[in-house]
Amino acid sequence: MSLIRDIPDFPSPGIMFKDITPLLADQQAFATAIDHVAERFVGSNVTHVVGIEARGFIVAAPVAYRLGAGFVPLRKKGKLPSEVRGIDYTLEYGAERLEVHIDAVSSGDRVVIVDDVLATGGTARAACDVIRELGAEVLGVGVIIELEFLSGRRALGDVDVFSLLKY
Ligand code: AMP
Repeated sequence: MSLIRDIPDFPSPGIMFKDITPLLADQQAFATAIDHVAERFVGSNVTHVVGIEARGFIVAAPVAYRLGAGFVPLRKKGKLPSEVRGIDYTLEYGAERLEVHIDAVSSGDRVVIVDDVLATGGTARAACDVIRELGAEVLGVGVIIELEFLSGRRALGDVDVFSLLKY
């Protein structure tokens, strides 16, 4: 069985959803994927790994642990309890709002942003923008899967992008 499962027309018609749950459930594949994403940023003095709700949390938290960095959640609208900075953006299948606690990172912090899939890049771009607005430096973006035909990497400008699997 493939570790990445293609689900056609989810969550809306015309989208080929890349389901990473078989990879997450495979002990060896999960560990290897985390190791590879983390490896890319070893030695970069990363202070925080930012995970994008919700699947990004699953990847970002062990990457943060592996790098000896803190974990910061970037959450959907209305989920974080303290004061937030938010940003509206569009992704492959819709529009969303992400929020982060205003004191989660600040000037001098060195941040890596992690998600499961890079599609059009709208989500990762919004994440980079809001983290920079808080004064932190974005060292790079790490994902398990990059959908190259959607050119997400281009949307991120000169940000260093690491993807484990390209489609
Ligand atoms: P985008 O902003 O277009 O790069 O979309 C990336 C975000 O949406 C990530 O948080 C992914 O979890 C999710 N996403 C977008 N397209 C897909 C897809 N085809 N399969 C799985 N997740 C996707």
